[in-house]
Amino acid sequence: MSACLPPGAVRRLCGFGRTTCADGYVLCPESVEAALEVLSLAQRAGRNVVLRGAGRSYGDASLLPEAVVIDTCDLARILAWSPDTGRMVCEPGVTLEDICCRAMGEGWWLPVVSGTMKTTVGGALAMNIHGKNAFRAGPFGCHVSSIEVLLPTGRSTELRSNDPAFRAVVGSAGLLGLITKAEIQLKRVLSGRLRVTPISCRNWNDQFRAFEERTDEEYCVSWIDGMARGPTAGRGLFHSARHEDVPHAPSLDWASQQLPARIAGVVPKSTVWRVLRLFNNDPGMRLLNSLKHLGGKRGSGRPYLQSLAEFSFLLDYVPNWELAYGRRGFIQYQSFVPSDSAQAVFESQVGRLQSEGTPSYLCVLKRHGPDEFLFSHGVEGFSLALDIKVPAQGWSHLERVCHALNDEVLQAGGRFYLAKDSTLRATDFARSLGEGAIEEFFRWKREFDPEGVLSSSLARRLGLEPIRVQSPRTQGAM
Ligand SMILES: Cc1cc2nc3c(=O)[nH]c(=O)nc-3n(C[C@H](O)[C@H](O)[C@H](O)COP(=O)(O)OP(=O)(O)OC[C@H]3O[C@@H](n4cnc5c(N)ncnc54)[C@H](O)[C@@H]3O)c2cc1C
Repeated sequence: MSACLPPGAVRRLCGFGRTTCADGYVLCPESVEAALEVLSLAQRAGRNVVLRGAGRSYGDASLLPEAVVIDTCDLARILAWSPDTGRMVCEPGVTLEDICCRAMGEGWWLPVVSGTMKTTVGGALAMNIHGKNAFRAGPFGCHVSSIEVLLPTGRSTELRSNDPAFRAVVGSAGLLGLITKAEIQLKRVLSGRLRVTPISCRNWNDQFRAFEERTDEEYCVSWIDGMARGPTAGRGLFHSARHEDVPHAPSLDWASQQLPARIAGVVPKSTVWRVLRLFNNDPGMRLLNSLKHLGGKRGSGRPYLQSLAEFSFLLDYVPNWELAYGRRGFIQYQSFVPSDSAQAVFESQVGRLQSEGTPSYLCVLKRHGPDEFLFSHGVEGFSLALDIKVPAQGWSHLERVCHALNDEVLQAGGRFYLAKDSTLRATDFARSLGEGAIEEFFRWKREFDPEGVLSSSLARRLGLEPIRVQSPRTQGAM
Protein backbone atom coordinates (compact mmCIF):
# COMPACT_ATOMS: atom_id res chain seq x y z
CA MET A 1 0.00 0.00 0.00
CA SER A 2 2.70 2.46 0.96
CA ALA A 3 4.65 1.95 -2.30
CA CYS A 4 3.49 5.31 -3.63
CA LEU A 5 5.00 7.17 -0.71
CA PRO A 6 8.57 8.32 -1.37
CA PRO A 7 10.87 6.27 0.92
CA GLY A 8 13.40 9.09 0.75
CA ALA A 9 10.93 11.27 2.64
CA VAL A 10 11.22 9.21 5.82
CA ARG A 11 12.60 11.28 8.69
CA ARG A 12 12.71 11.02 12.45
CA LEU A 13 10.96 13.92 14.16
CA CYS A 14 10.87 14.76 17.86
CA GLY A 15 8.81 16.97 20.12
CA PHE A 16 10.66 19.95 21.58
CA GLY A 17 11.19 18.16 24.93
CA ARG A 18 12.77 15.21 23.08
CA THR A 19 10.82 12.64 25.09
CA THR A 20 8.83 11.45 22.07
CA CYS A 21 10.13 10.87 18.55
CA ALA A 22 8.53 9.19 15.56
CA ASP A 23 9.47 8.33 12.00
CA GLY A 24 7.17 9.60 9.27
CA TYR A 25 7.00 10.48 5.58
CA VAL A 26 7.75 14.18 5.78
CA LEU A 27 6.42 16.18 2.82
CA CYS A 28 6.59 19.95 2.43
CA PRO A 29 3.92 21.13 -0.04
CA GLU A 30 4.51 24.56 -1.57
CA SER A 31 0.88 25.33 -2.36
CA VAL A 32 -2.62 24.48 -1.21
CA GLU A 33 -3.04 22.32 -4.33
CA ALA A 34 0.13 20.40 -3.45
CA ALA A 35 -1.12 19.97 0.14
CA LEU A 36 -4.36 18.56 -1.22
CA GLU A 37 -2.36 16.08 -3.29
CA VAL A 38 -0.47 14.98 -0.17
CA LEU A 39 -3.74 14.45 1.70
CA SER A 40 -5.10 12.36 -1.11
CA LEU A 41 -1.82 10.42 -1.51
CA ALA A 42 -1.87 9.58 2.21
CA GLN A 43 -5.43 8.34 1.98
CA ARG A 44 -4.61 6.15 -1.02
CA ALA A 45 -1.70 4.73 0.95
CA GLY A 46 -3.91 4.10 3.99
CA ARG A 47 -1.90 6.45 6.18
CA ASN A 48 -2.92 9.04 8.72
CA VAL A 49 -1.68 12.59 8.25
CA VAL A 50 -0.13 14.67 11.03
CA LEU A 51 0.38 18.41 10.60
CA ARG A 52 3.59 20.09 11.69
CA GLY A 53 4.79 23.67 11.96
CA ALA A 54 8.14 24.39 13.57
CA GLY A 55 7.93 21.44 15.98
CA ARG A 56 7.99 23.75 19.03
CA SER A 57 5.28 21.87 20.91
CA TYR A 58 6.91 20.09 23.81
CA GLY A 59 5.21 16.71 23.51
CA ASP A 60 3.58 14.56 20.84
CA ALA A 61 1.17 17.02 19.18
CA SER A 62 2.91 17.07 15.79
CA LEU A 63 4.13 13.45 15.77
CA LEU A 64 2.62 10.15 14.70
CA PRO A 65 4.62 7.01 13.89
CA GLU A 66 4.40 5.86 10.26
CA ALA A 67 2.15 8.72 9.25
CA VAL A 68 2.48 11.22 6.44
CA VAL A 69 3.67 14.50 7.93
CA ILE A 70 2.58 17.72 6.25
CA ASP A 71 5.35 20.11 7.20
CA THR A 72 4.33 23.71 6.43
CA CYS A 73 7.88 25.11 6.12
CA ASP A 74 7.37 25.85 2.39
CA LEU A 75 3.94 27.42 2.86
CA ALA A 76 5.55 30.50 4.32
CA ARG A 77 4.62 33.57 2.28
CA ILE A 78 3.27 36.84 3.57
CA LEU A 79 0.44 37.33 1.07
CA ALA A 80 -0.69 40.83 2.01
CA TRP A 81 0.49 43.49 4.41
CA SER A 82 -0.88 46.95 5.10
CA PRO A 83 1.34 49.20 7.23
CA ASP A 84 -1.62 51.60 7.39
CA THR A 85 -4.03 49.23 9.11
CA GLY A 86 -1.69 46.57 10.54
CA ARG A 87 -3.59 43.79 8.72
CA MET A 88 -1.48 40.89 7.54
CA VAL A 89 -2.55 37.87 5.50
CA CYS A 90 -0.10 35.01 5.52
CA GLU A 91 0.43 31.33 4.95
CA PRO A 92 0.68 28.97 7.92
CA GLY A 93 4.42 28.35 7.83
CA VAL A 94 5.22 32.04 8.39
CA THR A 95 6.85 32.34 11.82
CA LEU A 96 6.33 34.97 14.48
CA GLU A 97 9.90 36.03 13.72
CA ASP A 98 9.05 36.55 10.02
CA ILE A 99 6.12 38.76 11.01
CA CYS A 100 8.12 40.86 13.49
CA CYS A 101 10.92 41.22 10.97
CA ARG A 102 8.48 42.49 8.31
CA ALA A 103 6.23 44.73 10.40
CA MET A 104 8.23 46.14 13.26
CA GLY A 105 10.09 48.76 11.26
CA GLU A 106 6.71 50.20 10.30
CA GLY A 107 5.58 50.37 13.92
CA TRP A 108 3.62 47.13 14.32
CA TRP A 109 4.04 44.25 16.75
CA LEU A 110 2.17 40.99 17.27
CA PRO A 111 -0.64 41.32 19.83
CA VAL A 112 0.17 37.87 21.27
CA VAL A 113 3.48 36.02 21.15
CA SER A 114 4.75 32.81 22.70
CA GLY A 115 8.08 32.56 24.50
CA THR A 116 9.72 31.58 21.23
CA MET A 117 9.54 33.44 17.92
CA LYS A 118 10.14 30.21 15.96
CA THR A 119 6.44 29.26 16.33
CA THR A 120 4.54 29.26 13.01
CA VAL A 121 1.19 30.96 12.46
CA GLY A 122 -0.38 27.51 11.80
CA GLY A 123 1.05 26.17 15.07
CA ALA A 124 0.04 29.34 16.93
CA LEU A 125 -3.55 28.95 15.76
CA ALA A 126 -3.76 25.19 16.16
CA MET A 127 -2.73 25.57 19.82
CA ASN A 128 -4.18 29.05 20.26
CA ILE A 129 -1.04 30.23 22.00
CA HIS A 130 -1.01 32.79 24.81
CA GLY A 131 1.53 35.38 25.84
CA LYS A 132 2.57 37.25 28.97
CA ASN A 133 -0.43 39.52 28.30
CA ALA A 134 -2.98 36.66 28.29
CA PHE A 135 -5.03 38.31 31.06
CA ARG A 136 -5.64 41.36 28.82
CA ALA A 137 -5.24 40.21 25.22
CA GLY A 138 -6.58 36.62 25.37
CA PRO A 139 -5.04 33.99 23.09
CA PHE A 140 -3.69 34.41 19.54
CA GLY A 141 -7.02 33.44 17.93
CA CYS A 142 -8.65 36.59 19.38
CA HIS A 143 -6.57 38.69 16.96
CA VAL A 144 -7.31 36.77 13.78
CA SER A 145 -10.32 37.81 11.75
CA SER A 146 -10.43 34.86 9.36
CA ILE A 147 -8.68 31.64 8.42
CA GLU A 148 -8.76 29.42 5.39
CA VAL A 149 -8.82 25.70 6.15
CA LEU A 150 -8.15 22.80 3.80
CA LEU A 151 -10.25 19.84 4.91
CA PRO A 152 -9.22 16.23 4.27
CA THR A 153 -12.42 15.88 2.22
CA GLY A 154 -10.73 18.14 -0.35
CA ARG A 155 -12.91 21.16 0.40
CA SER A 156 -11.32 24.47 1.30
CA THR A 157 -13.36 26.72 3.57
CA GLU A 158 -13.00 30.25 4.85
CA LEU A 159 -13.98 30.71 8.48
CA ARG A 160 -14.59 34.13 9.99
CA SER A 161 -13.96 34.74 13.65
CA ASN A 162 -17.65 34.77 14.57
CA ASP A 163 -18.21 31.37 12.95
CA PRO A 164 -18.63 28.48 15.47
CA ALA A 165 -16.32 26.37 13.28
CA PHE A 166 -13.56 28.99 13.75
CA ARG A 167 -13.89 28.52 17.53
CA ALA A 168 -13.51 24.78 17.01
CA VAL A 169 -10.61 24.71 14.52
CA VAL A 170 -8.52 27.29 16.40
CA GLY A 171 -7.09 25.38 19.37
CA SER A 172 -7.95 21.89 18.16
CA ALA A 173 -4.32 20.80 17.65
CA GLY A 174 -4.45 20.33 13.88
CA LEU A 175 -7.13 17.62 14.03
CA LEU A 176 -9.91 19.29 12.02
CA GLY A 177 -8.11 20.71 9.00
CA LEU A 178 -4.95 22.28 7.61
CA ILE A 179 -4.98 26.05 8.19
CA THR A 180 -3.67 27.44 4.91
CA LYS A 181 -4.14 31.17 5.40
CA ALA A 182 -4.77 33.60 8.27
CA GLU A 183 -5.63 37.28 8.48
CA ILE A 184 -4.04 38.79 11.58
CA GLN A 185 -4.49 42.23 13.16
CA LEU A 186 -1.18 43.54 14.47
CA LYS A 187 -0.79 46.08 17.25
CA ARG A 188 0.61 49.62 16.87
CA VAL A 189 3.81 50.39 18.78
CA LEU A 190 5.85 53.60 18.93
CA SER A 191 9.00 51.95 20.12
CA GLY A 192 10.68 48.55 20.07
CA ARG A 193 11.22 48.77 23.80
CA LEU A 194 9.28 48.02 26.94
CA ARG A 195 9.53 49.66 30.34
CA VAL A 196 10.06 46.66 32.60
CA THR A 197 9.69 46.62 36.39
CA PRO A 198 11.22 43.71 38.32
CA ILE A 199 9.95 42.81 41.79
CA SER A 200 11.83 40.32 43.91
CA CYS A 201 9.43 37.95 45.70
CA ARG A 202 10.29 36.16 48.96
CA ASN A 203 7.55 33.53 48.77
CA TRP A 204 4.26 32.51 47.16
CA ASN A 205 2.29 35.26 48.91
CA ASP A 206 4.59 37.91 47.42
CA GLN A 207 4.20 36.35 43.99
CA PHE A 208 0.43 36.51 43.91
CA ARG A 209 0.41 39.97 45.51
CA ALA A 210 2.67 41.25 42.72
CA PHE A 211 0.13 40.13 40.10
CA GLU A 212 -2.80 41.61 42.08
CA GLU A 213 -1.08 44.97 42.41
CA ARG A 214 -0.23 45.32 38.72
CA THR A 215 -3.40 44.58 36.80
CA ASP A 216 -3.00 47.82 34.78
CA GLU A 217 0.33 46.67 33.25
CA GLU A 218 0.40 45.19 29.74
CA TYR A 219 2.58 42.16 30.45
CA CYS A 220 3.09 40.22 33.69
CA VAL A 221 5.16 37.10 34.25
CA SER A 222 7.06 35.64 37.14
CA TRP A 223 9.93 33.22 37.53
CA ILE A 224 9.75 30.92 40.55
CA ASP A 225 12.60 28.99 42.13
CA GLY A 226 11.23 25.46 42.00
CA MET A 227 13.98 24.15 44.27
CA ALA A 228 13.24 26.47 47.23
CA ARG A 229 11.44 24.92 50.23
CA GLY A 230 9.86 25.85 53.55
CA PRO A 231 9.46 29.58 54.19
CA THR A 232 11.32 30.45 50.97
CA ALA A 233 9.07 28.27 48.79
CA GLY A 234 7.72 30.30 45.89
CA ARG A 235 10.50 32.88 45.95
CA GLY A 236 11.50 34.36 42.61
CA LEU A 237 11.34 37.37 40.35
CA PHE A 238 8.18 38.99 38.99
CA HIS A 239 8.33 41.25 35.92
CA SER A 240 5.67 43.58 34.63
CA ALA A 241 6.10 45.59 31.44
CA ARG A 242 4.40 48.20 29.31
CA HIS A 243 5.20 49.56 25.86
CA GLU A 244 7.33 52.69 25.82
CA ASP A 245 4.91 55.51 24.99
CA VAL A 246 7.35 57.92 23.33
CA PRO A 247 8.54 57.26 19.78
CA HIS A 248 11.92 55.55 19.55
CA ALA A 249 12.69 54.75 15.91
CA PRO A 250 16.10 53.02 16.30
CA SER A 251 14.62 50.26 18.45
CA LEU A 252 11.97 49.56 15.79
CA ASP A 253 14.72 48.26 13.52
CA TRP A 254 14.40 44.46 13.84
CA ALA A 255 18.16 44.08 13.50
CA SER A 256 18.61 46.13 16.67
CA GLN A 257 16.55 43.61 18.62
CA GLN A 258 18.97 40.75 18.07
CA LEU A 259 21.54 39.87 20.70
CA PRO A 260 25.13 39.47 19.51
CA ALA A 261 26.31 35.97 18.60
CA ARG A 262 28.86 36.11 21.42
CA ILE A 263 28.25 36.74 25.10
CA ALA A 264 30.53 39.45 26.54
CA GLY A 265 32.16 39.48 23.09
CA VAL A 266 33.89 36.18 23.80
CA VAL A 267 31.71 33.12 24.46
CA PRO A 268 29.73 31.97 21.39
CA LYS A 269 26.03 31.72 22.28
CA SER A 270 25.92 28.37 20.48
CA THR A 271 28.06 26.77 23.20
CA VAL A 272 26.01 27.97 26.18
CA TRP A 273 23.80 24.87 26.30
CA ARG A 274 26.89 22.70 26.88
CA VAL A 275 27.72 24.75 29.98
CA LEU A 276 24.09 24.60 31.13
CA ARG A 277 24.23 20.83 30.80
CA LEU A 278 26.87 20.66 33.54
CA PHE A 279 24.36 22.29 35.91
CA ASN A 280 21.40 20.21 34.80
CA ASN A 281 21.07 18.22 38.00
CA ASP A 282 19.53 18.95 41.40
CA PRO A 283 22.61 20.51 43.10
CA GLY A 284 23.49 22.50 39.98
CA MET A 285 19.97 23.85 39.57
CA ARG A 286 19.72 24.65 43.29
CA LEU A 287 22.85 26.77 42.87
CA LEU A 288 21.73 28.49 39.64
CA ASN A 289 18.27 29.24 41.03
CA SER A 290 19.72 30.68 44.25
CA LEU A 291 22.09 32.90 42.27
CA LYS A 292 19.24 34.08 40.07
CA HIS A 293 17.12 34.88 43.12
CA LEU A 294 19.96 36.79 44.79
CA GLY A 295 20.67 38.69 41.56
CA GLY A 296 16.97 39.59 41.30
CA LYS A 297 16.98 41.21 44.74
CA ARG A 298 19.51 43.82 43.68
CA GLY A 299 17.46 45.57 41.00
CA SER A 300 14.05 45.00 42.57
CA GLY A 301 11.61 47.87 42.05
CA ARG A 302 13.92 49.72 39.62
CA PRO A 303 12.37 49.97 36.12
CA TYR A 304 14.55 49.65 33.02
CA LEU A 305 14.08 49.59 29.25
CA GLN A 306 14.36 46.29 27.42
CA SER A 307 13.89 45.35 23.77
CA LEU A 308 10.60 43.68 22.88
CA ALA A 309 12.39 40.62 21.52
CA GLU A 310 14.57 40.16 24.58
CA PHE A 311 11.61 40.44 26.96
CA SER A 312 9.38 38.21 24.84
CA PHE A 313 11.77 35.60 23.45
CA LEU A 314 14.47 35.31 26.09
CA LEU A 315 14.92 31.56 25.60
CA ASP A 316 15.61 32.00 21.88
CA TYR A 317 18.82 33.77 22.84
CA VAL A 318 20.29 30.47 24.08
CA PRO A 319 20.27 28.24 20.98
CA ASN A 320 19.53 24.56 21.65
CA TRP A 321 19.09 25.10 25.40
CA GLU A 322 16.68 22.15 25.42
CA LEU A 323 19.62 19.81 24.74
CA ALA A 324 20.96 20.69 28.20
CA TYR A 325 18.31 18.32 29.61
CA GLY A 326 20.29 15.38 28.27
CA ARG A 327 19.42 12.06 26.69
CA ARG A 328 16.10 11.41 28.44
CA GLY A 329 14.75 14.88 27.66
CA PHE A 330 12.17 16.86 29.62
CA ILE A 331 8.51 17.72 29.68
CA GLN A 332 6.73 20.95 30.35
CA TYR A 333 3.73 20.56 32.60
CA GLN A 334 1.44 23.61 32.52
CA SER A 335 -1.86 23.76 34.32
CA PHE A 336 -4.39 26.60 34.53
CA VAL A 337 -6.23 27.11 37.80
CA PRO A 338 -8.97 29.58 38.80
CA SER A 339 -7.78 32.48 40.96
CA ASP A 340 -9.28 31.35 44.26
CA SER A 341 -7.37 28.02 44.28
CA ALA A 342 -4.30 28.84 42.16
CA GLN A 343 -1.87 29.57 44.98
CA ALA A 344 -2.77 26.46 46.99
CA VAL A 345 -2.63 24.18 43.93
CA PHE A 346 0.69 25.55 42.66
CA GLU A 347 2.33 25.44 46.10
CA SER A 348 1.25 21.85 46.38
CA GLN A 349 2.46 20.97 42.85
CA VAL A 350 5.94 22.37 43.39
CA GLY A 351 6.19 20.69 46.80
CA ARG A 352 5.02 17.35 45.44
CA LEU A 353 7.54 17.46 42.59
CA GLN A 354 10.32 18.05 45.13
CA SER A 355 9.22 15.21 47.40
CA GLU A 356 8.85 12.82 44.44
CA GLY A 357 12.44 13.50 43.36
CA THR A 358 11.38 15.31 40.17
CA PRO A 359 11.77 19.01 41.05
CA SER A 360 11.08 21.58 38.39
CA TYR A 361 14.20 23.36 37.18
CA LEU A 362 12.24 26.22 35.60
CA CYS A 363 8.83 27.47 36.79
CA VAL A 364 6.89 30.32 35.18
CA LEU A 365 3.71 31.88 36.55
CA LYS A 366 1.28 33.83 34.33
CA ARG A 367 -2.16 35.34 34.60
CA HIS A 368 -5.02 34.43 32.22
CA GLY A 369 -8.65 35.08 31.37
CA PRO A 370 -11.42 32.91 29.95
CA ASP A 371 -12.20 32.65 26.22
CA GLU A 372 -14.79 31.05 23.98
CA PHE A 373 -12.68 28.56 22.05
CA LEU A 374 -13.77 24.91 22.09
CA PHE A 375 -10.51 23.44 23.42
CA SER A 376 -9.70 26.51 25.48
CA HIS A 377 -7.02 26.38 28.14
CA GLY A 378 -7.96 29.83 29.41
CA VAL A 379 -9.43 30.32 32.88
CA GLU A 380 -9.98 33.41 35.02
CA GLY A 381 -6.87 32.66 37.01
CA PHE A 382 -3.25 31.67 36.68
CA SER A 383 -1.04 29.10 34.99
CA LEU A 384 2.17 27.56 36.23
CA ALA A 385 4.53 26.08 33.63
CA LEU A 386 7.00 23.58 35.08
CA ASP A 387 9.98 22.18 33.16
CA ILE A 388 10.64 18.70 34.51
CA LYS A 389 13.57 16.53 33.48
CA VAL A 390 12.62 12.90 32.86
CA PRO A 391 13.97 11.27 36.03
CA ALA A 392 16.23 8.25 36.34
CA GLN A 393 13.21 6.36 37.76
CA GLY A 394 11.75 6.60 34.26
CA TRP A 395 8.70 7.74 32.35
CA SER A 396 6.10 5.79 34.32
CA HIS A 397 7.21 7.47 37.56
CA LEU A 398 6.90 10.88 35.93
CA GLU A 399 3.47 10.01 34.54
CA ARG A 400 2.26 8.88 37.97
CA VAL A 401 3.44 12.17 39.52
CA CYS A 402 1.78 14.25 36.78
CA HIS A 403 -1.50 12.37 37.16
CA ALA A 404 -1.47 13.24 40.86
CA LEU A 405 -0.91 16.92 39.93
CA ASN A 406 -3.83 16.67 37.49
CA ASP A 407 -6.18 15.50 40.23
CA GLU A 408 -5.68 18.74 42.15
CA VAL A 409 -6.11 20.85 39.02
CA LEU A 410 -9.35 19.08 38.17
CA GLN A 411 -10.71 19.42 41.68
CA ALA A 412 -10.12 23.18 41.43
CA GLY A 413 -11.91 23.36 38.06
CA GLY A 414 -8.68 23.94 36.15
CA ARG A 415 -7.47 23.15 32.64
CA PHE A 416 -4.49 21.86 30.65
CA TYR A 417 -2.70 22.98 27.48
CA LEU A 418 -2.11 20.63 24.57
CA ALA A 419 1.03 22.45 23.31
CA LYS A 420 2.77 21.59 26.56
CA ASP A 421 1.15 18.27 27.33
CA SER A 422 2.86 14.87 27.33
CA THR A 423 1.15 12.86 30.05
CA LEU A 424 -2.54 13.81 30.15
CA ARG A 425 -5.15 11.04 30.10
CA ALA A 426 -8.26 11.18 27.90
CA THR A 427 -10.63 11.19 30.88
CA ASP A 428 -8.78 14.05 32.60
CA PHE A 429 -8.76 16.11 29.41
CA ALA A 430 -12.51 15.60 28.85
CA ARG A 431 -13.25 16.42 32.51
CA SER A 432 -11.22 19.62 32.37
CA LEU A 433 -13.14 20.93 29.35
CA GLY A 434 -16.53 20.22 30.85
CA GLU A 435 -19.60 18.57 29.46
CA GLY A 436 -20.24 18.57 25.74
CA ALA A 437 -16.85 19.77 24.46
CA ILE A 438 -15.59 16.39 23.27
CA GLU A 439 -19.00 15.59 21.70
CA GLU A 440 -18.88 18.93 19.87
CA PHE A 441 -15.34 18.19 18.69
CA PHE A 442 -16.52 14.89 17.21
CA ARG A 443 -19.44 16.62 15.48
CA TRP A 444 -16.93 18.88 13.69
CA LYS A 445 -14.64 15.92 13.10
CA ARG A 446 -17.47 14.00 11.35
CA GLU A 447 -18.19 17.03 9.17
CA PHE A 448 -14.60 18.11 8.37
CA ASP A 449 -12.65 14.87 8.50
CA PRO A 450 -15.16 11.99 8.35
CA GLU A 451 -12.48 9.41 7.46
CA GLY A 452 -10.35 10.41 10.47
CA VAL A 453 -7.34 11.21 8.29
CA LEU A 454 -5.83 13.86 10.56
CA SER A 455 -4.32 12.49 13.72
CA SER A 456 -1.32 12.63 16.03
CA SER A 457 0.12 10.68 18.94
CA LEU A 458 -1.51 13.27 21.20
CA ALA A 459 -4.89 12.63 19.55
CA ARG A 460 -4.53 8.89 20.17
CA ARG A 461 -3.54 9.42 23.79
CA LEU A 462 -6.44 11.79 24.42
CA GLY A 463 -9.07 9.72 22.59
CA LEU A 464 -9.55 12.32 19.86
CA GLU A 465 -9.25 9.86 17.01
CA PRO A 466 -12.54 8.30 15.92
CA ILE A 467 -11.23 5.97 13.24
CA ARG A 468 -7.86 4.34 13.02
CA VAL A 469 -6.70 4.22 9.42
CA GLN A 470 -3.71 2.03 10.32
CA SER A 471 -2.92 -0.13 13.31
CA PRO A 472 -0.43 1.44 15.68
CA ARG A 473 2.98 -0.16 15.78
CA THR A 474 6.09 0.49 17.80
CA GLN A 475 7.22 4.10 17.65
CA GLY A 476 10.00 4.68 15.21
CA ALA A 477 9.63 1.39 13.30
CA MET A 478 8.74 1.85 9.63
C1 LIG B 1 10.80 27.83 24.26
C2 LIG B 1 9.32 27.73 24.07
C3 LIG B 1 8.50 28.69 24.65
C4 LIG B 1 7.13 28.62 24.47
N1 LIG B 1 6.35 29.57 25.04
C5 LIG B 1 5.03 29.53 24.89
C6 LIG B 1 4.20 30.54 25.42
O1 LIG B 1 4.68 31.47 26.04
N2 LIG B 1 2.86 30.45 25.20
C7 LIG B 1 2.31 29.45 24.49
O2 LIG B 1 1.09 29.44 24.32
N3 LIG B 1 3.06 28.48 23.94
C8 LIG B 1 4.40 28.50 24.13
N4 LIG B 1 5.18 27.53 23.56
C9 LIG B 1 4.54 26.48 22.78
C10 LIG B 1 4.47 26.82 21.28
O3 LIG B 1 4.22 28.17 21.06
C11 LIG B 1 3.31 26.03 20.69
O4 LIG B 1 3.53 24.67 20.89
C12 LIG B 1 3.10 26.26 19.19
O5 LIG B 1 1.94 25.58 18.79
C13 LIG B 1 4.29 25.75 18.39
O6 LIG B 1 4.08 26.06 17.03
P1 LIG B 1 4.82 25.25 15.89
O7 LIG B 1 4.77 26.06 14.66
O8 LIG B 1 6.15 24.82 16.37
O9 LIG B 1 3.85 24.03 15.71
P2 LIG B 1 4.08 22.47 15.99
O10 LIG B 1 4.60 22.30 17.37
O11 LIG B 1 4.82 21.86 14.89
O12 LIG B 1 2.57 21.99 15.94
C14 LIG B 1 1.66 22.41 16.94
C15 LIG B 1 0.26 21.91 16.59
O13 LIG B 1 -0.19 22.64 15.48
C16 LIG B 1 -0.66 21.75 14.47
N5 LIG B 1 -0.43 22.47 13.22
C17 LIG B 1 0.74 22.93 12.75
N6 LIG B 1 0.55 23.60 11.60
C18 LIG B 1 -0.79 23.57 11.35
C19 LIG B 1 -1.62 24.09 10.33
N7 LIG B 1 -1.13 24.79 9.30
N8 LIG B 1 -2.96 23.86 10.40
C20 LIG B 1 -3.49 23.17 11.43
N9 LIG B 1 -2.75 22.65 12.42
C21 LIG B 1 -1.42 22.86 12.38
C22 LIG B 1 0.14 20.49 14.67
O14 LIG B 1 -0.51 19.34 14.18
C23 LIG B 1 0.22 20.45 16.20
O15 LIG B 1 -0.92 19.87 16.76
C24 LIG B 1 6.56 27.56 23.71
C25 LIG B 1 7.38 26.60 23.13
C26 LIG B 1 8.74 26.69 23.32
C27 LIG B 1 9.62 25.65 22.69
